[in-house]
Amino acid sequence: MCKHILNAQVSIRAPCCKQWFDCAECHAETQDHRLRKTTEMAFLCKKCKKAFRKDMVNYEESDEYCPHCDNHYVIQAKTPQAALGLEGDDPRINARMLKDERVKEDQTKTIFAQDASVRLG
Ligand SMILES: [Zn+2]
Ligand SMILES: [Zn+2]
Ligand SMILES: [Zn+2]
Repeated sequence: MCKHILNAQVSIRAPCCKQWFDCAECHAETQDHRLRKTTEMAFLCKKCKKAFRKDMVNYEESDEYCPHCDNHYVIQAKTPQAALGLEGDDPRINARMLKDERVKEDQTKTIFAQDASVRLG
């Protein structure tokens, strides 16, 4: 289970190693290679458990929904930090956040964080 994005709606299929991951970071942690970029991403909806593909070059707003069950899968990521309600005004938490750069990134990322987000513009 993905510990980076608590409300992940889909799994993504890494084009490089043909394995399913909940997010780009899961791939980064378990694999020793970089996630390969692709123009056609394969997704697996966690709601209806069906797979589908999306053309990332012509990605539109309507593509943010599962074609099978209409589940909106591109949503603001809920991270463990956000779920705990940490506002960052606690000095102890701030110190920890400064040490771990990834914590900062976590707050704004989506499932596409390290890969396709650039394409989504
Ligand atoms: Zn891979
Ligand atoms: Zn993850
Ligand atoms: Zn679905």
